[in-house]
Amino acid sequence: MTLSHSISIIGSGPAGLTAAIYAARANLNPTIFMGTLPFGQLSTTTHVENFPGFPKGIMGPELMENMLAQAKEFGTNVVYDTIRDIKPLDKAQFELVGGTDTAPKNYQSNGVIIATGASPRRINCPGEIELTGYGVSTCATCDGAFFKEKIICVVGGGDSAMEEANFLTRFGSKVYLIHRRDEFRASKIMLERVINNPKIEVLRSKTVTEVLGSRKDGVKSLKLQCTKSGDTSDLNTDALFVAIGHIPNTDFFRKLVDLDDDGYAVTTSGTQTKTPGLFVCGDVKDRIYRQAITAAGSGCMAALEMERYLESV
Ligand code: NAP
Repeated sequence: MTLSHSISIIGSGPAGLTAAIYAARANLNPTIFMGTLPFGQLSTTTHVENFPGFPKGIMGPELMENMLAQAKEFGTNVVYDTIRDIKPLDKAQFELVGGTDTAPKNYQSNGVIIATGASPRRINCPGEIELTGYGVSTCATCDGAFFKEKIICVVGGGDSAMEEANFLTRFGSKVYLIHRRDEFRASKIMLERVINNPKIEVLRSKTVTEVLGSRKDGVKSLKLQCTKSGDTSDLNTDALFVAIGHIPNTDFFRKLVDLDDDGYAVTTSGTQTKTPGLFVCGDVKDRIYRQAITAAGSGCMAALEMERYLESV
C-alpha cells in the first residue's frame, strides 16, 4: 500500500533529519522545517569522533550536510522557516504557524514530529547578555577566530566545555577553563586533553559572577567567586565562552505535551506525546544521553511510530 500522508518535522539536527530520511523512504511526504539554527548543535560542533561509520571522525556541519542530502534524496521537502505555534485540528490534522508575527505563514500537516533540540544555558550574571556578541559567546566554532592571540575564558565542566577549551587554543594566547566544582562531568579522555594542553589553565571551584567590559571595547575582565571560601577575584580576559549545557526548546508546543521538572518533553510511550499524532525525538526529550547518535536513533523511532500511527487513523 502506498501512503500519501504529508507529515511535518520541526527541527533539523540529527533527530529531525533521521526522522526525515525514514519518513521519506516510507512515502510519508515529510516536510522538514529547518528552524533558527539549521542543523542544530552540530552546526557549531567541530570534530565528531564518536558517530559510527567515520573512523577518522567527521566535522559536525559536514555530517549534517550529508544527512540533509540523504533526506532530500528520498524526497524530503525542505523549508527554511521557524515554527512558532502548533494547533491540533480535527481528524489528526495539525496547523503549524511559522513566519513572523506581522507576516505569519500557515502550514497543514497530518502528523508532527518535533525535534527542536535544546538551546545554550546561560550563567545569568550581570554583563553576560549585554556583552553577548561583544566578547561573550556560546559558540567557539562561530566566534573563536575573533580572539587570535587573546586571553579566552571558557565556563563549564562537561564535554562541551572541554571541546571548546581545546578548540580555542588554536586562537587564544591562553585559555582559562573555569568550573564551579572540583570534579568534572566531562568524559575522562576529553578532560585529559584539557589538562595536558599547555595553553589551558583550569580554575576549579569558581563561578563567574559578573562580566565587565563594554560593547565598544569588548570584554575586559570577569569577577569570579570561589564556591568553597566565597572569596572574590578579578580575571583579565578578552572573551568568555559559556558552555554549561542546554535547555530543551519546548516553548511553542508546551501546552500539547507534558514536561518534566527540567522542561524536557515527556512521552507516553516511545516518542508519542499525550497529543495523538504529535511525536518528540532527540535532545528535546532526552535528558540522559544527548548524543548525536541517540538523537538520530530516536528520530528513526519517531518516524516508524508516525508511520504506524497514520496507518491506524
Ligand atoms: P553537561 O554535560 O550538562 O555539562 C554542563 C556543565 O556546565 C556541568 O559541568 C555543570 O556543572 C556546568 N554548569 C551548569 N550550569 C551552570 C551554571 N549556572 N554555572 C556554572 N556552571 C554550570 O553539558 P555539555 O557539556 O553541553 O554536554 C551535553 C552532552 O553532550 C553530554 O552528554 C556530552 O557528553 C555530550 N557532548 C559530547 C561531545 C563529544 O563527544 N565530542 C562534545 C560536547 C558534548 P556541574 O558539573 O557542577 O553540574
